[in-house]
Amino acid sequence: MNAPRRRRAILIVCDGLGTEWISPVHTPILAALQANHCTAADHHAVFPSVTRVSAASIATGCYPGRHGLEGNQMALVEAGRLVVHNAGAASFRDTMRRVTGKTLHVPTLAEWLAPHGGQIAYSNVSAGAAYFLDPDHFGIVRHRSGSFGVGGALLTGDAHLAVSHDLDGDIATARRFCDEVVPSSDFALAVLWLANPDLTTHYDPLGSPAHLNALQVTDGLVAKVIEAIQAEEDRFDTLLVIGSDHGHETIGRSIHIGRWLSDNGLADEVADGRVAVASQGTSALLYAHEAVRPAVERLLPAMRREPWVGETLTGADLAATGLSGASLFAAIDTSRRAETNAYGVVGTRWLVEDGEGKPAIGCGHHGGLGPSETRPFLTLVHPTFGQGRIERRTSLVDIAPTILDFLGLPVDQLDGSPIAA
Ligand SMILES: [Zn+2]
Repeated sequence: MNAPRRRRAILIVCDGLGTEWISPVHTPILAALQANHCTAADHHAVFPSVTRVSAASIATGCYPGRHGLEGNQMALVEAGRLVVHNAGAASFRDTMRRVTGKTLHVPTLAEWLAPHGGQIAYSNVSAGAAYFLDPDHFGIVRHRSGSFGVGGALLTGDAHLAVSHDLDGDIATARRFCDEVVPSSDFALAVLWLANPDLTTHYDPLGSPAHLNALQVTDGLVAKVIEAIQAEEDRFDTLLVIGSDHGHETIGRSIHIGRWLSDNGLADEVADGRVAVASQGTSALLYAHEAVRPAVERLLPAMRREPWVGETLTGADLAATGLSGASLFAAIDTSRRAETNAYGVVGTRWLVEDGEGKPAIGCGHHGGLGPSETRPFLTLVHPTFGQGRIERRTSLVDIAPTILDFLGLPVDQLDGSPIAA
């Protein structure tokens, strides 16, 4: 008699692949998967729709208000000042632990699964987005900035994932995932997080030949992983979860909100860290000490009249997005214009400058509440889920409970709930 096949899950994230780009022309493999398996038809990003927050939300099954990673950049209070940090830096989880005493506020899938087969993740996005899948080393994480084993042991030599941060790096990452991970019986969940098409669209226009090529290559990598899974079908009963974290919108213009606050009467407050702006691309988080919140509040009507403002969210409206934080006062989603780019893609947004890189006007970005950036895709491949569409509203926080439920583990402490066919 054959041994029973072992249940496990594999999650592939194609970063920045908005659902509207899946088609038999651009992504034939993904289009066929959607047609032949179970697709979440009303699937949504979390807010802000940025990669590091998405990674933490997928890993925990909770919204950022609960897991605590508030943005791709976020402010921490240090010596009484609001200091904005780049959460993509390899060092940020250590910074977060040093300043706040912990990393994420709730357990990750890696922690849930540690006693039940374990987790292994291969990621080619930013170090922060890779490490927040498992910030406290319950499983294995391989990333070009540093690979870590269970307990945090540094993996070197062949055990490290030394790849480039580009399309070639995605190809190399997927190849290693197929060779080393898919045939292995050392995990209950394996995650493959590809940097494209997101990485390409940050530097090239939506719909451009470079974007379409990144879609085609990514689609081909998905095919390779599926082939590798099928080759192990007699040994493993694999749930394949495949999706993205957010989509992209075109950047038409940019604004420096910190400068605007300084020019509108809050120069001292910005300079001495009582007010801080954390860019999220097409949105921004506005942090303020309690004592200066009335002054910030008085500026909001003037801010709302600015052409770059789409929506300002405070209080219950902000909390309703799933985002809250002790020092976080407001979020600003930038406005959208119905302009068309050279490749026929409609919609341009304002980018919130972070004072570091030069804004890539005409290229893609994300982070806000816009129609394209908030619509990632999600497909579940397993006989349990069958073929068809899930019509209920789903989001990134439903992925962890779906995986835990498939593996027979409890899901009652999460914001999300299992997706059922
Ligand atoms: Zn992303």
